Amino acid sequence: MRYLLLSDLHSNREALEAVLLDANNQYDRILSCGDLVGYGPDPNYVVEWARENVLLTIRGNHDRACCGMDDIEWFNPVAQAATRWTMGQLSAENTEYLRNLPGGPVLQDDFILVHGSPLDEDEYVASMTDAANVYPYLEVSLTFFGHTHLQGGFAWIEETQRAIRRLKPEESAMRVEVTPGSCWLVNPGSVGQPRDGDPRAAYGIFDGATGDVTLHRTPYDTEAVRRKIERAGLPAVLGARLALGR
Ligand code: ZN
Repeated sequence: MRYLLLSDLHSNREALEAVLLDANNQYDRILSCGDLVGYGPDPNYVVEWARENVLLTIRGNHDRACCGMDDIEWFNPVAQAATRWTMGQLSAENTEYLRNLPGGPVLQDDFILVHGSPLDEDEYVASMTDAANVYPYLEVSLTFFGHTHLQGGFAWIEETQRAIRRLKPEESAMRVEVTPGSCWLVNPGSVGQPRDGDPRAAYGIFDGATGDVTLHRTPYDTEAVRRKIERAGLPAVLGARLALGR
């Protein structure tokens, strides 16, 4: 089985459509590490698409906030404004769908999906130090995570830690050989709001036959989404950051 791995879609229809076009014919099923909504201008479109097409999506912190499960006091003012706007937009059915998403970790075949960390769905695994705290608790060798909006991840191989490097601007894909008997924490990157300095939409493909993961980037029309964000009355910074990937 080949899986398309998505994370942090954040109501970005244009980025999602670009990913699906780019990944065409390279996967059998779709999985998501959470944050379908929040920040972007098309929450209903993205949730309806997920309801029809995604085999398993776990919940992200923005999914919880936007369906009213969480107090949003701890969000920054921009995230709070976007959450209130999204709550006002989501249909009752889509809100209900978000409310019923499972929290990670969830086992799929022989790997795990989480939003933040396997130890805490809201924790960020952004550095080697963060990852080092997690390895001792992993019961499978491959975990997919999101939440940081940084494509890549970390591995513990024969007592040595390494970071998966980011794609260069001229690269559109990079194969990561997942060595057996080691621990891998892989972030497919954010579809709808990358923050690693690369504005292209990010995704991953896991090939169950080889056990390898390929990380991909594909460009999309960030300006069209910026205009939609502006028209929707969402905070302008949410549109401006898309062109920068920050
Ligand atoms: Zn997110």
